[in-house]
Amino acid sequence: MTTPTPATPTDRSTAAIDVQDLHKYFGANEVLKGIDFHVGKAQVVCVIGPSGSGKSTLLRCVNMLETPTSGKIFVEGAEITDPDADIDKLRARIGMVFQQFNLFPHMTVLRNLTIAQEKVKGRKKDEAVQIARSTLAKVGLSEKESAYPAHLSGGQSQRVAIARALSMSPDMMLFDEPTSALDPELVGDVLAVMKDLASEGMTMMVVTHEMGFAREVGDKLVFMDGGVIVEEGDPRTVLADPQHERTQSFLSKVL
Ligand code: ADP
Ligand code: MG
Repeated sequence: MTTPTPATPTDRSTAAIDVQDLHKYFGANEVLKGIDFHVGKAQVVCVIGPSGSGKSTLLRCVNMLETPTSGKIFVEGAEITDPDADIDKLRARIGMVFQQFNLFPHMTVLRNLTIAQEKVKGRKKDEAVQIARSTLAKVGLSEKESAYPAHLSGGQSQRVAIARALSMSPDMMLFDEPTSALDPELVGDVLAVMKDLASEGMTMMVVTHEMGFAREVGDKLVFMDGGVIVEEGDPRTVLADPQHERTQSFLSKVL
C-alpha cells in the first residue's frame, strides 16, 4: 500500500508555522502543555476544542501576543521565540482576526485600512489607499469605504477586519473564532471570504466551531483539550471517525 500524497507540502523544514514543544503558564496554571504541530505553506489548519482548552493562547503565541514559557516557534524558518528576533518585523507578516472585530470606531472604513499601512509599513498615503480599496473589493465592501464601524453589520465589520489585516500584505492569517460573535445569517459571508482566501493560497490557522468550513476548506484539523493536541488529521477523517474518546465526546456535542 502506498501513502497518499498530501495535496500541499507538509515538510517541516519548509513549514510556514512550526511549533515545537510549546508550553505556556499563566502563573501556576499550565495552559499549553507541550504543543507540537506545523502548518505547511498555503495550508489551512483548523483548530477546534472546548472553551478553555488553550486555542486562543496557542494562536496568540504564534504571533507573540503571548510569550511562550518554553518551546520554539518558527515562522517561515525564522525563530520568533529567539530572544534576539525582530518581533515587530515578524509580526507584521502575520495577519490576525479576532472574534471581536476591534475596528477603530472613530475612523472610516478606509482609514481603518490605511492607518497601519502608513504607520507600520511606512507606505505613502496614495499607495495605502489603493491597497485598501483593492482589499475592500475582495471582501465585497467597496461601497462602505466612507462608512463608520457603528453603521456596519457584524458580518460587514468582520469582513472589514479581514480586509484590514490583508491590507498589510501578510504571509499568513490567524483567525480566532471569526464568526462566533455573528448572527447566524451573517456567518456565511465571512466564511465565503475566508474560503476565497484559502483558494488563493493564503496560509491560514483558524480556530472555529464551523465544522462545515473545517471539513470543506481545512487541510488539517487539530483537536485540543486541556492544553494538549488530542488528535489531528485530515478533517474529513477526524470528523467522521474520531479516534479518541475526548474528540468523540466533543464532536457529539457540536455536530
Ligand atoms: P480557548 O481559546 O480554547 O477557550 P484560552 O487559550 O483562551 O482557551 O484559555 C486557556 C486557559 O488559559 C483558560 O483557563 C484561561 O482562563 C487561561 N488564560 C487565558 N489567558 C489568560 C491570561 N491572560 N491570564 C491568565 N489566564 C489566562
Ligand atoms: Mg478562545
